[in-house]
Amino acid sequence: MAKIYFVDVTNRDGVQTARLGLSKLEKTMINMYLDKLGIFQSEFGFPTTRHESLYLQANLELAEMGVLNDIRLEGWIRAATADVETAFKLVPSIRHLNLSISTSDIMINGKFQGRRSKVDVLKMMSDAVDAAKEQGAESVGVNAEDASRTDLDFLIKFAIAAKDHGADRFRYCDTLGYDNPFTVYETIKTLAENVEMPIETHCHGDLGMAVANSVAGAKGAIDGGQDVYINTTINGIGERAGNADLVATVLAVTKSKAFAEKHQLGRPIDLKKAWRLAKFASYAFGVPIPVNQPGVGANAFAHASGIHADGVLKDPQNYELYDYTELGRGEPELVETGREICSGEYSGVSGFSHLMGRMAISFKDTEEARRILELVRYANVEAQKPLVEDELLFIAKYPQIAKKLLTLTPPD
Ligand SMILES: [Zn+2]
Repeated sequence: MAKIYFVDVTNRDGVQTARLGLSKLEKTMINMYLDKLGIFQSEFGFPTTRHESLYLQANLELAEMGVLNDIRLEGWIRAATADVETAFKLVPSIRHLNLSISTSDIMINGKFQGRRSKVDVLKMMSDAVDAAKEQGAESVGVNAEDASRTDLDFLIKFAIAAKDHGADRFRYCDTLGYDNPFTVYETIKTLAENVEMPIETHCHGDLGMAVANSVAGAKGAIDGGQDVYINTTINGIGERAGNADLVATVLAVTKSKAFAEKHQLGRPIDLKKAWRLAKFASYAFGVPIPVNQPGVGANAFAHASGIHADGVLKDPQNYELYDYTELGRGEPELVETGREICSGEYSGVSGFSHLMGRMAISFKDTEEARRILELVRYANVEAQKPLVEDELLFIAKYPQIAKKLLTLTPPD
């Protein structure tokens, strides 16, 4: 039976969101958390963007070192031969790519202003897939931007052309969040049956249906006989109203009525890491988690009214669909209410050693402490907020990688 996988796009769709961004260290931490969660693939950035080159290379090194153990790191580029060439020039060891191009009439006409036709779109995409394969890409996903507003016959033609040129997956982008669960199910099922190729769902929340559409789309692909790769972002952060939230989508496919019995995950997801991941992303983006967020919101397991509180005290299953411990909640967290030493770009060795000592990290000599502190200072220059413990530990453990992440040299 066809299976469900997750492709998280926080480090691509999430960071291209207006007013929001992540430092290269924060993006790296996200990849680390996603790996521990069991996510199949992280769309970890933009290989044609010069300021990302060292970050992308450093993360590929982490994969080689076995630090990023199972997760696949994939870069997003436009479906253009020139972009493929630039990607491999700037990040020679990249092996997984998703190539994106608009497929709807409204976008082809509106963006290319009559300079390109559908035939040109097919050719650009096919040439780009060929180029990626020639340059050594091990897997290529082809993204149909605005697929939900694209004529279905053309979409099938587009996906078949991608497959014929060796693409491994087809990404159905509901770029504007226009679909509903009924339309996305039908469309993706038809695509799966006619193209016979694994499908990615990429759903946005402009009408509040990103998670529901992802679940329906996944069912469409599976009923059509194909594996599905659901695109998500952490806390649903993404362009405009955002993407399908990772935790909510995992909960939906594993806990909703009769779904899990009929649809299997391709690899197990460890939601015990969800709480830490959601909290970190919230801190890194500077966006609070809504109190009513599924699984990780402050009120997700809170009960006040008499009948509910009484019911949940007698048996949690009366008013809770799943247990908070499944999300990694319930552990006490230390919140400092008195004196506090934080990391900063002007930190000194004494405060820094105190901070690291609290995590039972000691340095062999002052020289080593100063070397790590210097990296922490640079990380603070980029983040402009105190680093969290996991970031400090990461820098202390992988100083050479951290140095790469923090190196930013604009071209002449
Ligand atoms: Zn998107």
